[in-house]
Amino acid sequence: MPASVPAPLSATVPANRLIVDLDALVANWRRLDRLSGQAECGAAVKADAYGLGLVPVAKALAGAGCRTFFVAHAQEAIALRAALADVRIVVLHGVLAGEEKALAAAHILPALNDLGQVALWRGAANALGRPLPAFLQVDTGMNRLGLPEEEVAAVERDPDLLAGVALQAVMSHLYCADQPGHAANGAQLARFRAIRARLPYAPGSLANSAGILLGGDYAFDLVRPGIALYGARARDGDTGFCPVVRLQGRILQVHDIDQGETVGYGAAHRSAGPAKIATVAMGYADGYPRAASGRGRAWLNGQPVPVVGRVSMDLITVDATAAAAHAVPGASIDFLGPDETIDDLAAASGMFSYEILTRLGSRLTRSYVGGAS
Ligand SMILES: *Cc1c(COP(=O)(O)O)cnc(C)c1O
Repeated sequence: MPASVPAPLSATVPANRLIVDLDALVANWRRLDRLSGQAECGAAVKADAYGLGLVPVAKALAGAGCRTFFVAHAQEAIALRAALADVRIVVLHGVLAGEEKALAAAHILPALNDLGQVALWRGAANALGRPLPAFLQVDTGMNRLGLPEEEVAAVERDPDLLAGVALQAVMSHLYCADQPGHAANGAQLARFRAIRARLPYAPGSLANSAGILLGGDYAFDLVRPGIALYGARARDGDTGFCPVVRLQGRILQVHDIDQGETVGYGAAHRSAGPAKIATVAMGYADGYPRAASGRGRAWLNGQPVPVVGRVSMDLITVDATAAAAHAVPGASIDFLGPDETIDDLAAASGMFSYEILTRLGSRLTRSYVGGAS
């Protein structure tokens, strides 16, 4: 082959992989669906389904019966619509001036967050000569998104503000649901009920993953789980959700070192004794947190092996002495999986589980197991 013709990508071996178990994802959705009683169970798939891949995740959930999907941005909604024609897609950020037509044409619902967005959507409905479906988000104390009290009062006085808006749900968002004893939960619940009674009737939606675990009072008509679908804890101590993600690296090289030798940048690790150091082809550019330097843990052939030295951009060093016979170039090593959960890595790195997931990088090769096949 002439040197100018590159070898196909398929001739390369992926150095590391993010393996997503779609059966575990679906099992988690079914569990959340059961926990929500009569309420419809949707799915939050914003941020590329928390880093796991929007289209494969949404298709697997739709195959299991999920009908309503929540994304943050209009672009995410349009990408999802191209893959799934028949599901309800809600844009949590609502509608921005200029994108009304594109959203309406793709049958995407904004969650209208203030009267400015309501006016944009009303205007689009007028221009098209047909009512346009939407969610209405009201603020119940988070002070982030949603109609504030004075705007709720304005709609109460003049329901025609919603003329042309086909209201499919009134929603709000809990801000302390991961702390079951927090007084904000009950306060938000009471406020949400009171606001719904003042607005034209529409189904209600309040609970994220942790909100579902607060119990049936919080479920209303539609729930919006995200993190629990992907196998991370919705709150401390919750159990029963399946691990969905496996993050697998590949050993490039192995070094036998003596007591007192150091490993990696800054000589951050000094070996207490003779050790076998395995260098893995993954780093913080792949989303493995640098903050897990000297604190994270990997699994090699079923044995825990500590991450030692600094995590660098493209490489991680682990002390593989405990599994020395398996520390060979080409061997796979797990940084996330059933033994090392997203929450374990979050704790080791001082990061937030949601952040661990959403940072899993674009350089990882994603592969999917299970699912309708
Ligand atoms: C992200 C999000 C969710 C899902 O939250 P989890 O904590 O991941 O279950 C639900 N509702 C809104 C408004 C969100 O922004």
